[in-house]
Amino acid sequence: MADKVFKMHFDDEPVIRTICAPVADPTDPQLGRLVKEMVQYLKDSQDPAWAKGNHVRAGVGLAAPQIGDPRRFFAVYVDLGKKGGIKEYGLVNPVILKTSVRQCCLSEGEGCLSVAKDRPGYVPRYYRITVKAYDVLEGREVTINQVGYPAIIFQHELDHLDGHLYYDHIDKIDPWKEIAGITKI
Ligand SMILES: [Zn+2]
Repeated sequence: MADKVFKMHFDDEPVIRTICAPVADPTDPQLGRLVKEMVQYLKDSQDPAWAKGNHVRAGVGLAAPQIGDPRRFFAVYVDLGKKGGIKEYGLVNPVILKTSVRQCCLSEGEGCLSVAKDRPGYVPRYYRITVKAYDVLEGREVTINQVGYPAIIFQHELDHLDGHLYYDHIDKIDPWKEIAGITKI
């Protein structure tokens, strides 16, 4: 358990709508510590007792601008159950190399630590993506393929680095409008 509780920034603050700048040195030890703290924060947030005691919401992803740092990095910590196991990443300067034509979305919509009240509706995402980044947890450059739920998490976090929020993708008139050929997860 870490004692770090980040001050969350919300969607009424300019930093959340900023196009973040690349990190000059992904191997910077100070940045490494910060990214690891972000991963630990997510892990802790999924412990109901810790989350309640520290007044934080549970999250699976956290991007730098959400903690007020307008640079290109994000953390993910997600338990994919029996099949997938625990996946954790601390990615710096991530770049999308490939996306699928096939789309997917969460059947119950998305949420965000920087959006106080959940916005309902389907958020169309690529079903499969390939991302290249420097992974702080691995200490090296990695190429990662994600499919389905973790691919959605990655796209949600990548969006943050360009000042986009999940609800930007929701149909304004009919949030739950059926999208042809989409896979609901
Ligand atoms: Zn978010």
